[in-house]
Parts: sequence; structure tokens; C-alpha cells
Amino acid sequence: MDVTLRRYPPAQMASPPYALSPSSISSFKECPLAFRFSYLDRLPEPSTVWTAKGTLVHLALQYLLDRPADDRTVDAALADLDRARVALATDPEFSSLELSDDERAGFDRDAEQLVRRYFDLEDPQQVHPIGLELRLEARVGGVRVRGVIDRLDLAEDGELVVSDYKTGRVPSELFEAKSLAGVHMYALMCEQTFGRRPARVQLLYLSKPEMIIATPSDQSCQGLARRTAALWSAIETACVRDDFRPHPSRLCDFCTFRPYCPAHGGDPQDAVELRGPGTMVEPMLPLG
Ligand code: SF4
Repeated sequence: MDVTLRRYPPAQMASPPYALSPSSISSFKECPLAFRFSYLDRLPEPSTVWTAKGTLVHLALQYLLDRPADDRTVDAALADLDRARVALATDPEFSSLELSDDERAGFDRDAEQLVRRYFDLEDPQQVHPIGLELRLEARVGGVRVRGVIDRLDLAEDGELVVSDYKTGRVPSELFEAKSLAGVHMYALMCEQTFGRRPARVQLLYLSKPEMIIATPSDQSCQGLARRTAALWSAIETACVRDDFRPHPSRLCDFCTFRPYCPAHGGDPQDAVELRGPGTMVEPMLPLG
């Protein structure tokens, strides 16, 4: 594809972010230009039905797992979903959605189905969470990494387990390893923070429902640390050269920044005035 790259004026060159997160790492790997728009320029990203539904279901499950074990029933989970709905009603992520009555009904139906399906994956009364929405910052491969772990459990055998809820589609086997990259990073961050590596990391796909489980090993942790260091170096180079290239893929169909993307006839200069306030650093926690 013939893409003409126009650089930002030197005075507006990007600084490397304060820290990386599993989602910003994934963003840079998928498309350096989208990474720049999102994590360095902090362009506004409109809320979507899918992300809002994910936020709602995550909060409902957080409330549920925060209850005493015996109280974690389906009825309690549905009450927690109502509670989460009230808590988020005025949040811009929800108030900006402008759903019709039918769309709102569909949204609520889907959210309830995701919460009900959670119970097909595990019995929450048997789970021993020691951290919910746990915010961590650690050094991985010499790079500062931040993130929020949905749940850190103490398993019956005394081992730590990292769990991450997913409300999107289950990935094909081809993309399974890619989907697990975030939870492997969380495992490494736990090891740095608590001095113990979690024995298991698991993705709970509520839509199917299906659970994908992996075991972090010396090899996987060392590989992840090496790749994180290499990625940081690539980001620094991109900042120094002011060179964040678009990487067109099927994700372009869902990309908020498409109007400013030279791969689709746009001009990054048109986005300059939309940049977020303050310095061009990664947003503070919470990070997705
Ligand atoms: S439209 Fe595609 S190529 Fe352009 S910034 Fe978005 S993801 Fe990258």
C-alpha cells in the first residue's frame, strides 16, 4: 500500500509514555499510529456498546466476588448487575451511548446473559479472591508496566491464580497465545510485586462460555521480559524519529482514528487540536 507519511511538526513530537500496560503494548504491536493517537496524543475515543457492556459486567462480577462466599448466588449476581448499572448510569461511557429503548433492552439482556454464563465457568462460592481490580506497577524487562488485574485468587493448593474476564468473542486457536499475553504480563507483575509467580493464568470468556488456562514458566516469563524491553526500545525509537506508521488490518474497521489515518486518506494533522490536555504521556490508572 502506498502510504504518504507526514510527520508532526518537531515542536509536537511525542515523548515516550510514563509506563506501558498490556493494552498499550498490544496497541503498539497492532498499529504504531493508533498507539500514538491513543496513548501519546490521547485523542478522545468515543464509548462503544461493546466496551460499555464489558465495563458493566466487570463491575457486577467485582461486586459479586466481594461478597462472602456463601452469598455468591445467581440472584445476588443479578442484584449486583443492577447495582453496577446504577453506579455507572452517569458515567460518560454510558450516558454518551444514546441507545434507543430497544437497543437499551438488548444491551441489558446481553449483560444479564454474560453474568449468568459466568456461573457455567466456575462456582464463585469456591473462589478465594485476594485482590479485585488490583492495580499493579512493576518493572518488566527494565520497563515500567502498569495494569489492573480483574482478580487474583489463592487456589486450594495455596498457589496464586490470575483471572481476567472477557466479554468479547473467544479467539481462534491461532490467536490464543496473543490473547493470553496480557495475563502472562500480569503474572510477571505479580511475581515482581509479591515475590511469587502465579501458578496459573486464566481467561474467562463469558460469551461462550469458555475458559482458557495457561501456566507461566521460566521460559515464557523470560521471553516476555525480553519482548517488552525490545518493544520499549522500538517505542523510544519511534518517538525520537517521530515515526509511527499505520499498519492497516481488519482492525481498521473498528478504529476511531480512521479519519486521521493516512492509510485511509486522512491526515494526522487534522487531529492535532483534539489532543488531550497536558503532556503526551500515557493516561494515569486505571488502564484497560
Ligand atoms: S485506521 Fe488502521 S492503520 Fe489507521 S490508525 Fe487505525 S488501525 Fe492503524
